[in-house]
Amino acid sequence: MSFVAEPVARLIEEFNKLPGIGPKSAQRLAYHLLNSPDEEAKALAEAILALKEKIKLCSVCFNTTDCDPCLICQNKERDHSKICVVERPLDILSLERTGKYNGVYHVLHGTISPAQGVGPEDLRVKELLSRLQDGSVAEVIVATNPNVESETMAMYLQRIIMPLGIRITRLARGLPFGAELEYADDLTLGQALENRREF
Ligand SMILES: [Zn+2]
Repeated sequence: MSFVAEPVARLIEEFNKLPGIGPKSAQRLAYHLLNSPDEEAKALAEAILALKEKIKLCSVCFNTTDCDPCLICQNKERDHSKICVVERPLDILSLERTGKYNGVYHVLHGTISPAQGVGPEDLRVKELLSRLQDGSVAEVIVATNPNVESETMAMYLQRIIMPLGIRITRLARGLPFGAELEYADDLTLGQALENRREF
């Protein structure tokens, strides 16, 4: 991109590294900022810097937060006897959006992946176990992703949590809303059948 001024090319390159942003979108964003008022570009740059400077991990649940413990862990209205285990902080957003969960969370920061050499010791499993020691937790809800590696993670958690006498549950599997049976894969349809419930 030698015909593009170096600062513009550099920004395009940076945008292009972001998930979901292809070369065309990266160019559009860079030129959009170039034509925006100075304050807008500065506000964006400052927001990015603040993200890296102020955000840390909650010392209880390992969610990303700017206060410690995070707002969810601090909230006395929430049910602290239920811990929902997720792989990433982003998963908390998805679950919170449902408005159906009032317990607290624990973020593992990844999943077991023998292929990438990631074992339980690389994740926040030890910290989860220590949260289960004082007898205040009645249920652990495993909300890992429905894929093969996360399945290994779920099985592992079940193996280590069951002996503690704590109820361990997991998200139901099934058809996404709006899906048609004809297009569902066998695994999903099979799980939907297994997880059927009374009306
Ligand atoms: Zn927290």
